[in-house]
Amino acid sequence: MAAIDRRDFVRGAALTGAGLALGCGGEGRRAGPASATDQAAGDAPAPPLLIDRASVFDVRAGAMRPDTSVLVRAGRIEAVAPAAELNAESDAAAGAARIDGAGLFVLPGLIDAHVHVTHILYQSYMTGDEVLPFYLGHGVTSIRSTGDNVPAQRLIERYADDHPEISPNVFRCSFLIDGNPPWHPDVGWYLATPADVEPFVADMAAWGVKTLKLYVGAGREVGRRVIEVGHEHDLVVSGHLLDYHTGDAVRDGLDCVEHIYTVSNFLLDDPDDRHSINLDSDEARRLIDVIAEHGARVDPTLMVFWGTLLFMDLPEVYGHPDHDPMPARLKAFWDKDRERRSLDWGAAPVSVRQGTWEKYLRLTGMLREAGVQLLVGTDAPEPQVAPGASLHHEMEFLVEAGMPAREVLSAATLENARILKEEENRGAVEAGLEADLVLLEADPLEDIRNTRRIRTVVRAGRALDPAAILAAAPTE
Ligand SMILES: [Zn+2]
Repeated sequence: MAAIDRRDFVRGAALTGAGLALGCGGEGRRAGPASATDQAAGDAPAPPLLIDRASVFDVRAGAMRPDTSVLVRAGRIEAVAPAAELNAESDAAAGAARIDGAGLFVLPGLIDAHVHVTHILYQSYMTGDEVLPFYLGHGVTSIRSTGDNVPAQRLIERYADDHPEISPNVFRCSFLIDGNPPWHPDVGWYLATPADVEPFVADMAAWGVKTLKLYVGAGREVGRRVIEVGHEHDLVVSGHLLDYHTGDAVRDGLDCVEHIYTVSNFLLDDPDDRHSINLDSDEARRLIDVIAEHGARVDPTLMVFWGTLLFMDLPEVYGHPDHDPMPARLKAFWDKDRERRSLDWGAAPVSVRQGTWEKYLRLTGMLREAGVQLLVGTDAPEPQVAPGASLHHEMEFLVEAGMPAREVLSAATLENARILKEEENRGAVEAGLEADLVLLEADPLEDIRNTRRIRTVVRAGRALDPAAILAAAPTE
């Protein structure tokens, strides 16, 4: 059968790609299908690709379009049309490799809206390039850094661009703009006065970051100036805030609130007890309304509360199967970190932490109900937040918080692309966009957990076998 032969051909190209990366990857990577001849094949442009008669997710309508074909050429989506109009017999598809899409569900490549590519890894003696295959192998074709060392991010982005067969697109962020001293010495940056803001933001813009990130120790005067100057440079300003009240920041024009507790920490009955969240107060209503009125996005990152902050000591969390393939160096840091946290957040009884978790889920649902656009981010690779797999887990939590699967999928693609100002290039299965796609074996609208059932990842127009991508990640 020609169709199957063609598909095997395409899958063969994917293995070639992983082999290319292995050739450059050095020690400690998993054994994979590398060979000397793969280098040349990996550099060849991907042939046109027809995904025939699939169900294709329409991010704007939040619906599957059955019997739809997608034609990809030179790394871009050339056409999306009913299979009756676009199929293997169509002139437009002449010479294209074919994937039989019957029974497959096509999503735009997933985007993780909150990751770090040097931070955390620094404590694990790892560099960001090493974990990139975990993202792509799980269908995450783009990642949004939310605070890292700036030159190091540029190197990791360059590595990703050179190795698209095993890497997502990397979008960079500023250092964490913080008080004195910065909370995180490896990625923090202190701005003392509003006068310091303009040269710093000009530097960040010249480096090509997409996002400016305000951090816990930044106050209102500096923060407001960062928002103003950032917007003059067409940058997105995100905040994980504590000294600068989220209500003030949103009124000042903040674009994006990182972490659900950047909302709930301003709703505590007892300011010294982070578990004393009161969601039924007038204050809670006012803060939710002001976020909605000003159109700020909220990126709850429920995963970091589940994995790192609230339940790090529970076997079902630290022993979660998503963590098994993580490199030994990363897991060693996670183990060390757990001991420290057991004296901090973990010191409260599990029932208290469970109550806080339920409030985080409820607040996430309340924000959505009020019309706040939610994003889908994880905070990987924070402890127990596995790069790649955790985005699927985050989507499951958002469904649990009351967000329908169709909205979660649109948020993880279109809305995450918008916060990167990348909707001209990605976030939908539409003609003209980059050909970053995920082909699933089951319908994620019926069960969000089906996003884990990945048959093929398409990155920059190349069809890739997820197992071959993951094989390029280090084990040690
Ligand atoms: Zn973070």
